[in-house]
Amino acid sequence: MSGSADALVAEVLSTGTLKGLPQGHFIGGRFVPAQSGNTMESFDPGRGRPFASFAAGDAVDVDAAVTAARKALSGPWRQMGPAARGRILAEAAALLRERAGRFAVVESLDSGKRLSEAEGDLRGVTRAFEYYAGAADKLHGDSLPLGRQYVGFTTEEPVGVAAQIIPWNYPLSTAARGIAPALAAGCTVVAKPAEQTPFTALMLAELLSAAGLPDGVLNVVTGVGAAVGAPLVAHPGINHITFTGSVATGSAVMRGAADNVTRLVLELGGKSPLVVLADCDMDAALNGVIEAIYENAGQICSAGSRLILDRSIAVPFLGRLTTRVKGFRLGHGLTNPDLGPVNSPRQLETIDAHVRRAVAAGNRVYVGGAVAKSDATGGGWFYEPTIIEAQGPDDPVVQEEIFGPVLVVQIVDGPDEALAAANATSYALVAGIYSQNITQALRFARDVDAGQVFINEWFAGGIEVPFGGNRKSGFGREKGMAGLRSYCKMKSVVARI
Ligand code: ADP
Repeated sequence: MSGSADALVAEVLSTGTLKGLPQGHFIGGRFVPAQSGNTMESFDPGRGRPFASFAAGDAVDVDAAVTAARKALSGPWRQMGPAARGRILAEAAALLRERAGRFAVVESLDSGKRLSEAEGDLRGVTRAFEYYAGAADKLHGDSLPLGRQYVGFTTEEPVGVAAQIIPWNYPLSTAARGIAPALAAGCTVVAKPAEQTPFTALMLAELLSAAGLPDGVLNVVTGVGAAVGAPLVAHPGINHITFTGSVATGSAVMRGAADNVTRLVLELGGKSPLVVLADCDMDAALNGVIEAIYENAGQICSAGSRLILDRSIAVPFLGRLTTRVKGFRLGHGLTNPDLGPVNSPRQLETIDAHVRRAVAAGNRVYVGGAVAKSDATGGGWFYEPTIIEAQGPDDPVVQEEIFGPVLVVQIVDGPDEALAAANATSYALVAGIYSQNITQALRFARDVDAGQVFINEWFAGGIEVPFGGNRKSGFGREKGMAGLRSYCKMKSVVARI
């Protein structure tokens, strides 16, 4: 942690808030209040108390932001070549590196996540800007082989105004993985952060402006989903939507986009299988399981929330796992505990309802299983790290996303049963396997339905690796070069010569 981050942590822990947080929406290159004058509060999940207020937008603010973004499409941004766009993104990466400490503290305070995780997020966000800075001038079409009498080629044009609907679990990371490629492609953007975590997206807009982004190219409107998100996705001035969130809201976004036939990328839920076979490296697998389900208190669409475990190693594996999980220290995210709070009282109640239903149905609970209350958790929103055994493939704890620190164990006999269990939910976001037999692992990668497969390290990869799901986990891909092409419309040109 940098010295400045230390001072900021001390400020939050002693005053309960932080000075200098952005105020208002960011529209047309400056901060402006909601036109209604309304504000709402953001809460510190580690204490369960509000720490700052922000603009509560509505359709009027959305319209102002979309108008600014449309105007910016034909302004100086359009005249800039791809290399100039790349230079702005590279400058943004340099500024992010300088300001990482403050960004990480605000992200941790607003979302509840551990500071060390927020610092990791900042490294990823910086990489996203660096990656797409380098990609901006390498985006090109193809030439088409039509014979001597024709010249044919394709071009990749910016799709126009891109809307970004951002969730509360990875506020800055999700914003960056959409905004950086959209800008690299030459689009303009209207972003709507989640109402639980509005601040780092606003800080990012201010930072990009300082990096040289022309006014109106990136706009941020804060507020609740019904008041800001819904009018944004249905706005006729929007050409593309990137949505990350729940399945139910994703369906609503699709319906909202349908009238204008607005194209979209949906990154929705998951119930991702983490397969541990008898021939695994047990230490690596234990570390992998712990990271897969307890990172960010399990509030990750790509969490490894189902441990599919070979029966022949189940007893020693679960014994060691349970011992480690029982030793977890819970506490405020800024104190870097083993497990931080969940993001909201609503999420805490959702997690508890899933677990209570399983307990009532007779599921075995190895550890945890309740809301956590202690001196260390104070008034914050904490759930005990939990491990539950499933009662069969149709068990609701197998089929339903819990989005909390709750690991569901499915015990199987061998790789074939493991694969069948892995594929037996309506989600298909990511999947992982721990096995020292690389042929076995690659067969699993071939046969599992998932957008991304991890072998011997959960969350392996980075901004270079395309990410997204199949089935109810959504469609389209973010990150990598596929993420850049999401923000392009292809044009084919053919000339007779
Ligand atoms: P959660 O239920 O966990 O809050 P959501 O999927 O509802 O997750 O939220 C993800 C993002 O979608 C947030 O920014 C939220 O404000 C936004 N949102 C919620 N409802 C709508 C909607 N009807 N249209 C567009 N965006 C919405």
